[in-house]
Amino acid sequence: MADDKPQIPPGCSFCGAPNDGSIAIINGPPGVAICEMCIDACNMVLEDMQDQAPSIVEMKPDEIPTPQEMKAHLDKYVIGQDHAKKRLSVAVYNHYKRILHAQESKTESEDILVEKSNILIMGPTGTGKTYLARTLAKKLKVPFAIADATTLTEAGYVGEDVENIILKLIAAADGNVKAAERGIIFVDEIDKIAKKGENVSITRDVSGEGVQQALLKIIEGTIASVPPQGGRKHPSQEMIKVDTSNILFICGGAFVGLDGIIEKRIGQHPMGFGAPVQKRDHQALQELYSKIHPDDLVKFGLIPEFIGRLPVYAFLHELEENDLVRIMTEPKNSLIQQYKHTLSLDNSELVFEKDGILAIAKKALEAKTGARGLRTIMEQTMIDIMYDIPSMEGKTRVYINEQVVLGNTPPRVEQVSSS
Ligand code: ADP
Repeated sequence: MADDKPQIPPGCSFCGAPNDGSIAIINGPPGVAICEMCIDACNMVLEDMQDQAPSIVEMKPDEIPTPQEMKAHLDKYVIGQDHAKKRLSVAVYNHYKRILHAQESKTESEDILVEKSNILIMGPTGTGKTYLARTLAKKLKVPFAIADATTLTEAGYVGEDVENIILKLIAAADGNVKAAERGIIFVDEIDKIAKKGENVSITRDVSGEGVQQALLKIIEGTIASVPPQGGRKHPSQEMIKVDTSNILFICGGAFVGLDGIIEKRIGQHPMGFGAPVQKRDHQALQELYSKIHPDDLVKFGLIPEFIGRLPVYAFLHELEENDLVRIMTEPKNSLIQQYKHTLSLDNSELVFEKDGILAIAKKALEAKTGARGLRTIMEQTMIDIMYDIPSMEGKTRVYINEQVVLGNTPPRVEQVSSS
């Protein structure tokens, strides 16, 4: 093409793709360039190389990633939440270090007791609690399962037995019980099994305390009898025996109202009695939560024995507009990258304008669903264009701006000439 800039190399130095404007080409030192396809291919190779790293439980104690390395990994995927990332990285590091040391020293001195430090992770919905736990488990290559505390029941009630959580972990370990015994379980909505009483938001008819007692046993470490088919236990059923003492439990919940309990105990009423609840900034909230005492959790409705088994606390803050924008754009597998990729498969380039991204963040903030709402809003924004694009001829470019996100206009679509 005559309008190509003269100093740009003729194409990708790796695959030879021509620099004709049909794909992005990034220039390196003079005469060297790489196209977007080769960058993707390199990324895949790098990810495959990482995939070949062993599981943490196959490592020697001095080979396991340090807390700093774990946090650096989390930083690639999870935006903000530095405090929680650090707490989790340290707790997970200590947990596996203890297991590996105990394993090594078993031959010399019998049975070194490995005391577990399970984690209680608190923060509003959609701020990354589950995502943090999942991302860590993936990095460490240990089986990971998620359970919802609200579906659990104490023995004798209709619902899910706590042992079924373990079954999920065994499934995540492809049936390998030994691997499952070193996995991670995330128990969500733990705040919803608080005892009724001071906490008025609890509407369960099954006592939360009974469920806490049932969970306590597997969290502190026991030989659990797990029904292989799941469902309720049956007396004549053959059970799988699972030692839960090395399973790391991360319990998460929003704990709405806990800040008020802490405030009341320390005698802080910054807003004055009866004043409308105002949003505290991250710093103030972090400071308040750093003063948490197990008694506050007892007041909230957790039983002391249960709290005793969750000695590590981590807090996540509400995500703000800027955090949501970063979540959409920065992580390796960000939502925008995912949609760009999907459209590129239909020969279309997706251009998200700044005001469009901001409008999505604002909508998610209004919905109060944290980052969880982003995908739904994005999907609503993109649905019509994703319906039309596969039927369009040639290469296209699609622009998404604020008006498109607000539903006022359809996206602008441009034909891109490929010659
Ligand atoms: P919860 O705090 O309710 O457990 P999740 O971890 O399930 O929230 O978050 C829902 C989704 O939102 C995640 O799968 C992830 O895609 C996104 N998300 C939430 N918080 C973050 C964050 N801090 N950084 C990046 N993505 C996030």
